[in-house]
Amino acid sequence: MSSQHEIPSYLTPHGTSPWNVYLEQIDRVTPHLGSLARWVETLKRPKRILIVDVPIERDDGKIAHFEGYRVQHNTSRGPGKGGVRFHQDVTLSEVMALSAWMTVKNAAVNVPYGGAKGGIRVDPKTLSQGELQRMTRRYTSEINIIIGPNKDIPAPDVNTNEQIMAWMMDTYSMNQGSTASGVVTGKPISLGGSLGRHEATGRGVFVVGCEAAAKRGMDIKGARIVVQGFGNVGGVAARLFAEAGARVVAVQDHVTTVVREGGLDIVALQSHVAANGSVAGFSGAEEVRDRAQFWGIDCDILVPAALEQQITEANAHDIRAKIILEGANGPTTPAADDILHEKGILVVPDVIANAGGVTVSYFEWVQDFSSFFWTEDEINLRLTRIMREAFGAVWQLSEDKKVSLRTAAFIVGCTRVLQAREMRGLYP
Ligand code: GLU
Repeated sequence: MSSQHEIPSYLTPHGTSPWNVYLEQIDRVTPHLGSLARWVETLKRPKRILIVDVPIERDDGKIAHFEGYRVQHNTSRGPGKGGVRFHQDVTLSEVMALSAWMTVKNAAVNVPYGGAKGGIRVDPKTLSQGELQRMTRRYTSEINIIIGPNKDIPAPDVNTNEQIMAWMMDTYSMNQGSTASGVVTGKPISLGGSLGRHEATGRGVFVVGCEAAAKRGMDIKGARIVVQGFGNVGGVAARLFAEAGARVVAVQDHVTTVVREGGLDIVALQSHVAANGSVAGFSGAEEVRDRAQFWGIDCDILVPAALEQQITEANAHDIRAKIILEGANGPTTPAADDILHEKGILVVPDVIANAGGVTVSYFEWVQDFSSFFWTEDEINLRLTRIMREAFGAVWQLSEDKKVSLRTAAFIVGCTRVLQAREMRGLYP
């Protein structure tokens, strides 16, 4: 006889896996969910997991196989929604956690989606353009059975971009027999992409950062900013902070850390990265080779905008920031959260801080359905309004309930998901 909540083997928590981190976050929010806690188990298991083999012919004629995933964590509030990541360290546990964070994020900012995520375990830098295209198209064909404009809508994430989205949209459309723009977001503008989408995640990080700073009585002008990750999220957020008069004093990427006390020239750094693939060798800064030193740099706002589980028990004690603004998904472990709380550091959680990307993805999807496109000003205005309102509501709840911003954001998100779950009821 199986127990009421027998845990499927792939959900067995092990150590500090990303999925385990997410489960701990759910345990922390459960006491605040009232009668909806009855449904909480639904958040602890993804609705649907697809693991696919992605074989391609390499340029030298050899056959290579990659492991791909698409996880639909929850669809109570609408179609699955979330990015696709190409990275050598992608695992099922990671994609499950990322899909679950999308569920909470989409509900926290109230866009009408569930949560999903996909990925391929591959270092895309080892592939030619042709190989990258063949792998993307084969992966899309393999997950074709569960995606669609009304079912599950992929988007860019780590190491995926407009070109990858164009290939995904084309592959899905070829399989369907007609062009389906709304099957992915983050597309090129020429294929029904939205103005402002490229910058949206970084812009959202900046907007929420300004709101958090105001609550702490901090002036953005002259504030010291430190950023980990200089891609589409960290790079854009750094530029917007610099434009607002802040000093971005350090940037760390996958290769090294560059530091400049008076503030880095972000536009010059972006050109350097576009030409060289890394911040290493940038002439307008000093290089700090010891990666761990990055966390101890004196600053007002620290923006982790790279991968998950960067801020842990091992380095949380070193952090000297007043605010941590999570541009990445899952950058802080629960143990680190506790240390930061004790130190009085305000953590603005990923599910609010980086929700700008999926918010403009929603705008893109709406524009594709209506075939009517908005101006960039309209998009940025609506994005800013949604981000401010979401942050304001979460801030208020955290004050009222005396909980962290993460727990408050999870209360808002999980409550919306479980209310939908309860109203829909169980089938059959
Ligand atoms: N990958 C982004 C995220 O983690 C965007 C997802 C989307 O636009 O669907 O939020």
